[in-house]
Amino acid sequence: MANPLYDELFGIHAGQLTPFLHLPDGTIITHTDFLAIAARIASLTALIGLKAGDRVAVQVQKSPEALALYAACVQAGLIFLPLNTAYTVDELTYFIENSGAALIVCDGANHEKLATLASRLGAQVETLNGDGSGSLMAKAASMPKDFATVDRKSDDLAALLYTSGTTGRSKGAMLTQDNLLSNARTLVEEWRFTANDVLLHALPIFHTHGLFVATNVTLIAGGSMIFLPKFDTDEVIDLLPEATTLMGVPTFYTRLLSDARFTRDLTQHMRLSVSGSAPLLAETHVQFEDRTGHRILERYGMTETNMNTSNPYDGDRRAGTVGFPLPGVELKITNPENGEPLPEGEIGQIEVRGANVFKGYWHMPEKTAAELREDGFFITGDLGKVDPDGYVHIVGRNKDLIISGGYNIYPKEIELVLDEQPGVAESAVIGVPHPDFGETVLGVIIPQADQSPDLDGILDALSQSLAKFKLPRKLVVMQDLPRNTMGKVQKNILRDQFDTLFT
Ligand code: ATP
Ligand code: MG
Repeated sequence: MANPLYDELFGIHAGQLTPFLHLPDGTIITHTDFLAIAARIASLTALIGLKAGDRVAVQVQKSPEALALYAACVQAGLIFLPLNTAYTVDELTYFIENSGAALIVCDGANHEKLATLASRLGAQVETLNGDGSGSLMAKAASMPKDFATVDRKSDDLAALLYTSGTTGRSKGAMLTQDNLLSNARTLVEEWRFTANDVLLHALPIFHTHGLFVATNVTLIAGGSMIFLPKFDTDEVIDLLPEATTLMGVPTFYTRLLSDARFTRDLTQHMRLSVSGSAPLLAETHVQFEDRTGHRILERYGMTETNMNTSNPYDGDRRAGTVGFPLPGVELKITNPENGEPLPEGEIGQIEVRGANVFKGYWHMPEKTAAELREDGFFITGDLGKVDPDGYVHIVGRNKDLIISGGYNIYPKEIELVLDEQPGVAESAVIGVPHPDFGETVLGVIIPQADQSPDLDGILDALSQSLAKFKLPRKLVVMQDLPRNTMGKVQKNILRDQFDTLFT
């Protein structure tokens, strides 16, 4: 027997003194060091009575120990359930109750409140602070640094990862060992990761991007990561010369580009910069190339499926597209009304199937049945099209589709035109209730620094290029778009804010 995920990500590094994590203070954690931390934690979980299949809910600051807790769970056959550090203790109640976690690992600051919840639910609690202190590591320190890896099958659950909650309440996606492993293997190949790679890691590790894409790919390839607690422009610029690759959300790139120190010289040696989790503005793609001579590689994925599509490593990385379906991933565009495939070039719902696709939503059989078809295709909730060259374009989320007077309006189409107007940095287009049309179009504009865009002029320009029914009934200016920690625009917040504008 074996434990495929542990064996392939971690076990292969047993006894290796090669660097795995470079910390900001100059400390290097080797693969051997890391595996020992993980094994001690795994031993502790066994000692306190956790059994294979139990859920471990984790809300802690990013640290090497927090990452080792992931490895420990894999090794002990536990289901790792990382939670966004932005959630309040009250919000955590839902996740902990919903998942039936047997162990909660939290920051010391939250211990008291969570201990009350835990005793009500019969869960245990340990603490882990950002500096590695807390009861978890204090107890693990006296545990053996070897742990007999628990047998698992590739179809067993490895993680319960909650979706970001951008469109509603977060859902727990059940991810198997093979979901994670198959995708990581594919990405290593597609993005040419090797043991020589040093990935600059400034993403959170409670989300699929920083946890699975970045970490699993690095582990399989045998490379290392510059492991930063968060994205800090100064620190990233300081450390870029040591890195070969960067994975980021679009805001990483816009922040870097707004800094004059981010130059061609600084990035000359970089092999690859990947963007995902939210749409990258075509403008950012173009600016990045002008400044560095490199092209950002944009890819598309989600909690439920890991990565689905990627622009090519060799070949044309096209701005405004998310590239081609990855090997092993089938992608089709279907009519939301009846699920039938649509002709090439038409906009419809994006469905995907492959070894990467999750097992369903934890304890949500109806939601699972509605979104995961019996033939294995998952209805992603995103709308898109495939162009004649095979590139996938995402036009937005099904839930953001505006239906005005019976017409379907795709916000992205209008946002693209708005973004090009003088003085506009970015925009968000939403549907708001309207007495005659059901819904009507509202454009939210974020001006470029020190600019005050001419709204009438912009509406005029829009009417040149867009059909009348798509034209925003009104444009409003805001200083920033509401975003969650992954840089995703929270259109539900905008919709709530402007709910009664026309009613
Ligand atoms: P919820 O499902 O709870 O509403 P969420 O969908 O934002 O939240 P995630 O799984 O973190 O939760 O995000 C996946 C979504 O992010 C995708 O469905 C897609 O809408 C968006 N996304 C990811 N990468 C890209 C990209 N490159 N371009 C555009 N959108 C992207
Ligand atoms: Mg989603």
